[in-house]
Amino acid sequence: MFAGKTVLITGGTSGIGLQTAKSFAEKNANVAIASIDCDTAADGLRDDLEAFGTKIGFYTCDVSDFDAAGAAVKQIAEDFGAVDILINNAGITRDGLLIRMSETDFDRVISINLKGCFNFSRHVSPLMFRKKSGRIINISSVIGLYGNMGQVNYAASKAGVVGLTKSLAKELGSRGITVNAIAPGYIETAMTDKLDEKIKEKLFERIAMRKLGKPEDVANLAVFLASEQAAYITGQVIQVDGCIAV
Ligand code: NAP
Repeated sequence: MFAGKTVLITGGTSGIGLQTAKSFAEKNANVAIASIDCDTAADGLRDDLEAFGTKIGFYTCDVSDFDAAGAAVKQIAEDFGAVDILINNAGITRDGLLIRMSETDFDRVISINLKGCFNFSRHVSPLMFRKKSGRIINISSVIGLYGNMGQVNYAASKAGVVGLTKSLAKELGSRGITVNAIAPGYIETAMTDKLDEKIKEKLFERIAMRKLGKPEDVANLAVFLASEQAAYITGQVIQVDGCIAV
């Protein structure tokens, strides 16, 4: 499906990003992963990903650092020849009620979750301009659409990703580049493992499908949005949340 194409996934060493890397490699894409600690992660992951038979590369990079993002993109373009698909997935939470939230926790979440998307989109889009084609897929969250107590930083960052996505889609559409966001609900990853069982049970009551989603549920949509079948879909925010009540 993606033979000869390169997908760049930020935060591709665990959870949704890792599953997305596997799903694209399975569909013959070359995969470049830019993440905060590739040195620790790469040993275990390289074999798993290379088993699909495509080219795999790991690039240690803090997505919140504009210059480091630029250097990673430059190196990936040299190593792979192009970036056809960008998935801005790296993200963190630093939860707490506003009354107790530190400036550091607010800034860090915005820098990684929102500015990280800007940094990579800014550095990758000139490569896509030249090819007059490309796909940018940003991982937002239902929290960015509906808000959540204890997550003003996270919700603001993910709402920002929605605004960035819709604006960038308008800027890049005439160049043959689509830009969409996926807003996952609660997905089984390290991020949601932190939730205690009682909170999870309460969550199930709010989810029509009565269960958490799996990283595959998000990865499947990313694969679709990057495919030819989605060529005329841009500027959209698509929820993968089992129909969550707000
Ligand atoms: P995860 O398992 O914690 O994965 C996050 C990834 O981002 C990890 O590879 C992490 O690397 C990397 N990362 C963290 N800080 C980084 C930085 N400064 N620079 C580069 N990479 C960095 O989380 P996940 O659940 O898969 O989340 C993936 C995305 O989906 C996030 O944007 C998250 O907000 C979003 N999302 C998740 C859910 C959910 O329920 N899980 C719901 C909605 C949206 P390390 O592991 O080395 O720290």
